Amino acid sequence: MGSIKPAVIATWSFGLKAAEAGMKALRAGGSALDAVEEAVKTVENDPANRSVGLGGYPNMLGDVELDASIMDGSTLRAGAVAAVKNVKNPISLARKVMELTPHVMLVGEGAYMFARLMGLEHHAPLQPEVKKAWREYLDQVKHSSPGKGTLDFWAKYIHEMKAHDTIGVVAIDKSGNIAAGCSTSGLAFKMPGRVGDSPIIGAGIYADSLAGGASATGLGENIMRFCTTRIVVEYMYRGLSAQEAAETAMRFILSRDRFARNIAVVALDAKGRAGASTTDEKFEYAFMTADMEEPELRSVKGVSI
Ligand code: ASP
Repeated sequence: MGSIKPAVIATWSFGLKAAEAGMKALRAGGSALDAVEEAVKTVENDPANRSVGLGGYPNMLGDVELDASIMDGSTLRAGAVAAVKNVKNPISLARKVMELTPHVMLVGEGAYMFARLMGLEHHAPLQPEVKKAWREYLDQVKHSSPGKGTLDFWAKYIHEMKAHDTIGVVAIDKSGNIAAGCSTSGLAFKMPGRVGDSPIIGAGIYADSLAGGASATGLGENIMRFCTTRIVVEYMYRGLSAQEAAETAMRFILSRDRFARNIAVVALDAKGRAGASTTDEKFEYAFMTADMEEPELRSVKGVSI
């Protein structure tokens, strides 16, 4: 390993501050796992973010339910939390599930109880702007003509308002350890208890230092049906670069279901090379290596089949 150049890759433009925080952790001697946790926390801590952390849009009942996961590619250990309320940093809770319990995933009330034990409980009232958007959503459903207050109406509405996004991060440290992690409040105004791809190992994230790591964002209902990030890493096991693996995975998914839109991935391979792709038209992500002064925002076009 030896000569690996540390790197961090993160989803969307809010990934810029995540990549920067991750690189700061690596430069301070932290591991890939530390970098991922710090990177994700930076976005979770932003109260203005509407799709990550406690500032995110709530579910149909007005409760913010959060999903997160983390994976250590050197030990293949993983931790996740799903549909957890009143936790500021679900990524840290996921790490504690991985490191301090015999389990991989805790959900709902159990995850919250564990957060309380760990001192990670945090109560933040819905921000007025968020409450207003939620009430408007309820009004729309209530006053829509018969047949429109259905799941189909809701799914279309969510899709049109594009009210979801995940902070997904992959990092590689100077020893070649790769870690991946992600965090989201999921789909805005989702059904209570709805869990997306983000806390599902192999769907929202996967990492193996032998090959690479990947993290996904987009419509969880599509991402999880394909075990998307496991597919990306599978192609890296076979020797593809992160970019080739990300594109090949997106093409494979579309070849199986041409309607599986709204899927995007970021990836790093064991050489520290970046990759990203999407089944949509385009996707933005942030990337930073140890010899860069600041992270770079990159845009990639979607695959066509
Ligand atoms: N994948 C997330 C979810 O479905 C949301 C997103 O990344 O846009 O919960």
